[in-house]
Parts: sequence; C-alpha cells; structure tokens
Amino acid sequence: MVPGAQDSGGLDVNRQDSGGLDVNRQDAGAVRVVRTRAELAAARATLTGRVVLVPTMGALHDGHRALMRAAHALGDHVVVSIFVNPTQFGPGEDLERYPRTPGADLAICADEDVKVVFMPDTEQMYGSGLGVRVEAGELGDRLEGAVRPGHFSGVLTVVAKLFGMVRPDAAVFGEKDYQQLVLIRAMSRELALGVDVRGIPTVREADGTALSSRNRYLDQHQRGVASALSRALRAGACAAASGANGPGVLRAAQQVLDAEPELSVDYLELTGPALQPTPASGPARLLVAARVGSTRLIDNLPVTLRPASEGR
Ligand code: AMP
Repeated sequence: MVPGAQDSGGLDVNRQDSGGLDVNRQDAGAVRVVRTRAELAAARATLTGRVVLVPTMGALHDGHRALMRAAHALGDHVVVSIFVNPTQFGPGEDLERYPRTPGADLAICADEDVKVVFMPDTEQMYGSGLGVRVEAGELGDRLEGAVRPGHFSGVLTVVAKLFGMVRPDAAVFGEKDYQQLVLIRAMSRELALGVDVRGIPTVREADGTALSSRNRYLDQHQRGVASALSRALRAGACAAASGANGPGVLRAAQQVLDAEPELSVDYLELTGPALQPTPASGPARLLVAARVGSTRLIDNLPVTLRPASEGR
C-alpha cells in the first residue's frame, strides 16, 4: 500500500496495488512524475531529441513493458501517461472497478528507464473548456464501436489531448487493441498531428492468452475459458495456412469458440489489415471479442489467405 495516494475521483487508488514506488514523490526512482499540464510542459521542455509517448491506463504488465522498450528504440526519451479515461467507458462498464496500481506502475516505469510519467486527474484532462471531442468516423461504429457506442470518440479525444500536451515525435500502441491502433494512426494522418504512430505485436501468456489489465478480474477457471479466444484465432490462422478461404478460416475459429459454452461471443470477424472488407487473398486480420462472466476481452491475429490458385 502506498501511503496517502489518491486518484482524481477520490477513490483509493491503492486498493489493488501490490506495492511499488511512492506515487507522491516527484522523482520516484529516476522517473519524474508530473500531474498537471503545467508540470508536464516544464518537464517536456527539458527533453531534447526525439520524444516517444506510451499512453496507458495503468495496471501495467509485460505488454506495456514491451511498448516502453519499443519506444526506447524509436527515440531518446520515453514519456508514459497513466490515465483511466472515463470518456471511453460506457454506462455500466468497468470504469469504477478498473484496476489501479500506481505504486507498482511507477516501479515498472523506473525499471524501464522512463523519463517522465504523466498521471493527470480527470480535471486536468477534461476540466475546463467547451468539451470539444474527436469523431471516429464510420470505422468507429463497427466491431468494438458497435458494442461500445462512443468508445472510440473517447479514445481518440484523450489521445489527441495527450499528443497536444506531450508533443511527442512518435507514439507506441499495442496491436492487442487493433481497431484502436488503426483509428489512432488514421487520426494522426488525417488531422495532420505529425506523430509517427507505431504498433507492436501482442504480448501473450505461455498458453497464448493476450496479456490484459482486465485479466486480473478472472479466476483460475475463467482464465481457462478466456484462453479459447487465442485458441480460436490460432485455429483460424492455421486453417488459412493450410489453404482455407475466408469462410473456412471463420469456421475453424468458430468451432473453438462453440466448444466453450461459458464464453459469450460479441463478434468474430475476418477483415483486411486496415479493417476493410476481407480480401480474397493476402494479409488479413481475424478479430474476436467475448465476455467471460462480467469480464469483456478482445484479441486478434494476422492471418494470410492463400490465393485460390494454390488449391484448397
Ligand atoms: P491500456 O492500458 O489497456 O489502455 O493499454 C495501453 C496500451 O498498451 C495500448 O496501446 C494497448 O494496445 C497496449 N497493450 C495492452 N495489452 C497489450 C499486450 N498484451 N501486448 C501489447 N500491447 C498491449
């Protein structure tokens, strides 16, 4: 337990914290912790060379570590933001119970040689102004957006704010949230934000399950159920490698999902790599979202569809 630490909403941010650094110190380890836009601007002004941003919602795990390592390879200084963004949660979603582990998060950032950690409260991010938001367009209403209306507007708005506040040269995101990555890349390009948006492959458990802060909600039995997501994706990718066409890939993946009655599937879709309609052959993306109990999980995998002429 980190003494005296509180988050913006007055919640006890340490209730699920397994320990770590004192979040109230401005220099936890070699990390500089900043909480206001002004403190961030002052810290940013001291950074020369290429600055790379890693936006997160905290409860950091090895997937986030991989982003930080990729960020180091892209620039001179890594800035991590930790903010549980309320505008990307819908009514009845897990905003209140989302895991908050600031002490352990800062220990990980220190370990990964992060220069600045920005931990704003909701007032700093949204408190003043007219409530201007970014619209996600048509893709924002499909897949995750169809199940979580307004989710991507919330994501893009907070990322646009972070890009404006941190002024990074590049930013690193996980392919784990593939639709998010595609939309953030499009936002940076279409709004000419000038940030080089990079994605890294999903970091997984030994059994293939994608690491996620939400995995903390699962008990041992539910973890077994959740592994069906990655097993289904692998079955689809294997079918593609054996020459199955799009419907064949989906059938192979669906079979694995069907064998797990405790899984409630929101969608299983095969698309092009930019989430466009499935191509006849070449690179594609297989995406799945499902609920295990009250926990909602997503995953995806690249698949390569072989041309029909190769025979199947
Ligand atoms: P989150 O804290 O869940 O909002 O995620 C912050 C960033 O970490 C996003 O860019 C995610 O896509 C990325 N991320 C989350 N889980 C993983 C994972 N297992 N592997 C790689 N990146 C991840």
